[in-house]
Order: sequence, then C-alpha cells, then structure tokens
Amino acid sequence: MIRSKLPDVGTTIFTVMSRLAIEHQAINLGQGFPDFDPDPRLCQLVSDAMAAGHNQYPYMPGVAPLRQAIAQKVQALYGHTYDPETEITITSGATEALMATVLAAVNSGDEVVVIEPCYDSYLPAIRLAGGTAVPVPLRAPTAEDPYYRIDWQRVRDAITSRTRLLMLNFPHNPTGTVLDSSDLDALESIVRETGVLLLSDEVYEHIVFDGKPHASLATRPLLAEHTFVISSFGKTYHTTGWKIGYCCAPRQLSAELRKVHQFMVFTVPSPMQFALAEFMQDPKPYTELPAFYQAKRDRLAAGLANTRFKPLPSPGTFFMLADYSAISKQSEADFARDLTVRHGVTVIPISAFYQHPDAEASNHRLARFCFAKKDATLDAAIERLADV
Ligand code: PMP
Ligand code: GLN
Repeated sequence: MIRSKLPDVGTTIFTVMSRLAIEHQAINLGQGFPDFDPDPRLCQLVSDAMAAGHNQYPYMPGVAPLRQAIAQKVQALYGHTYDPETEITITSGATEALMATVLAAVNSGDEVVVIEPCYDSYLPAIRLAGGTAVPVPLRAPTAEDPYYRIDWQRVRDAITSRTRLLMLNFPHNPTGTVLDSSDLDALESIVRETGVLLLSDEVYEHIVFDGKPHASLATRPLLAEHTFVISSFGKTYHTTGWKIGYCCAPRQLSAELRKVHQFMVFTVPSPMQFALAEFMQDPKPYTELPAFYQAKRDRLAAGLANTRFKPLPSPGTFFMLADYSAISKQSEADFARDLTVRHGVTVIPISAFYQHPDAEASNHRLARFCFAKKDATLDAAIERLADV
C-alpha cells in the first residue's frame, strides 16, 4: 500500500465542477477559462513555428526570444530589469512555477504564510515540500468598505523565525482584490524588518479594472530582490490550455528554481514559446484586456442584480463573488452542486480555497462566477439564475 503524501486532498474543485457541468449540460461559469478562441494570429504563429522546425527540446529555461520579450515587457511596465539569461524561466503554466518555487524554497519544518482564501494548489505544494501553511485571513468587506483587504499587521504577526516564504496573489483569485501603492509600502516595511522571501502570483496582472494600474511587486526594487514573480500567458492571451507561464526572480533564486524545474518538466513546448515571443511585440492585446473584461464584469453584475444573488465588487481577475444568503442556507459546496444539477449553472464554492472547506468559518454563502465567457453565455446563465 502507498502511504499518501496528501491524505486529505481529493480531486481539485475545478475538475470536479467542470465534470459535473458536463454531466448535467450546465453553463459552466466555474473553472476559470474562456469559452472563446485566442487571436487567430497567435495560433498562426504556432503553426509557423512548427513549419520553421521548432519541434525539438528547446533550451531548458525557455527559448531566448521569449525570455527577452518578457524582460522587455517587465522593464517597460514595472521598471525592473531582469536578466533573461539568469533570471527568467519559462514554466509549464503558473502551476508549475508555483510548485517549483515552493519545492525549491521550502524545507521540511518551514512555515509558509498564505493569505486565505488562497488558490487551491498552494496548500498541497507546501505540504509536498514538508512545510506548514500559516493562513492569514483576508479582511472581509463591511458595510463601510465593500472590498476585501489585506491586514498587513496580521501578516507581520504571522512571520516568525520559522517562516521561509510569504505567498501572495494579486489580483486575487477568488475575491478579485487588487493591491495599491500603500499595500506595497506596508509589504516593503515587512520585508525590510524580516527579510522574508516572497512568492507573488500575478497571473491576472493584465486584468485590473476601473483604470487602475497593476501593483506588481517588481515595481519596487526591494521587493523584486526578495520575490519570485510568477505569471502566465493563459489568462492574458485566452490560451489556458497551452500551459505556458514564467517566473522572474533574482539570479540565486532562479538558479534554485531551475534545479527543480529541470527535473519536473525539463522544458515546455517550443512552438508556443516562439509564437508568444513574436506575439508579445504588440502590446495591444494586453493593454486592451482590462476594457474587454470590464464590459463582461459589468454585464454579469447587472444581470445578477436582477436575481436574488448579491454580487460583490470585482476590482480585478475574471471572477466575481456573489452572496446567495437570500436564496439558501446550504454550505457552499452543496449549494454549488445543487445550482448545477437543478438550475444548470456551474459556479465554484469559495470554501474550496480554505484549509478546512467544511468548517463553518470557511462558508460565507458565497459563489464564484467566471465571466471569461461570450456575452451570449453570460446572458443565458443570467436567465437561468433569475429563476433561482
Ligand atoms: N494561480 C492562480 C491564482 C490561478 O488562478 C491560476 C489558474 N487559473 C494559476 C495560478 C495557474 O495558472 P496556469 O493555468 O498558467 O498554470
Ligand atoms: N485557475 C483556474 C480557476 O481558478 C483553474 C485552473 C485549473 O483548473 N487548474 O478557475
């Protein structure tokens, strides 16, 4: 018999809910992926790269033109210069970058501070590395302040001599919360005082609304020196199925990350890397993304306003939370299941982003809706939700 390394872990909620959606032919606003195609020019560039012979193992850390394109973009947007040769690594999506970072940085017995709710791969990654997660809750919205916020004092208090890593994810999945410059100021003080290493999952860096800039940790030299900044092309270019992401980190951190990366996947598909490098030369696809998704956010919010769901503000990501307490007292997992089975709309229970999903404290009668969908899909879902 095998002795499980993840005895409490089942199948990820995204797979569970997408499978249920297919089984019940529900409209899937659960798992975060677009139901529309990427730009055809990008797909053509992949074909071109294959025709040009880019079909064998690329260089282990990723092909040079892509690492250079990322270095240029990060420098232009966030002002930090990463050396593409030693400080940028192309990974199999952000998921692999997250796992490789945690395996590289966390030793047995180390503590890792996470902000709860947190993306579902974080806690298993920490466990596989032999570490212990120390969750710090996001401060929930109140009548005076409708946004989730980080309580930096609580983050500071959670950091001890055993802390190896602080994992951050802004824009935040699932709440949509974003950082501003005062958050970066607070984080700088913490780093100055403690020297803690940071992992910053910025996969939604190009989906920030209402004209706000993305507060990348790479915009502050002190933070950049301490941080593994992780991103992904899946969210930005509507290519979640390609699984191409990357990690920017100072040389010594990147060297340790690459030691893990080379034995997890060695490298990632070559034609996509060359295509993305070429496609990145035009900034428009990502500069136009906030407006594109903001229209969808507003469409979903307006639609939900005519139902018994109460939508919460979504300052970033392609997710929106909605309160269903006027409809049901069920746990989030039960509610999400029933909504798929009885009403044909699939959502994600927020409780899945907590260490103890079944606990009362992890259930706030909230569902996560993904609005990376065609307008017709959103409209059809809203029509069904109006009957709930
Ligand atoms: N981090 C967060 C916060 C995410 O929401 C996701 C996926 N949607 C990932 C990481 C994984 O990204 P990828 O699909 O590039 O592996
Ligand atoms: N990150 C996506 C979400 O939050 C799902 C990615 C996955 O299924 N692994 O929905």
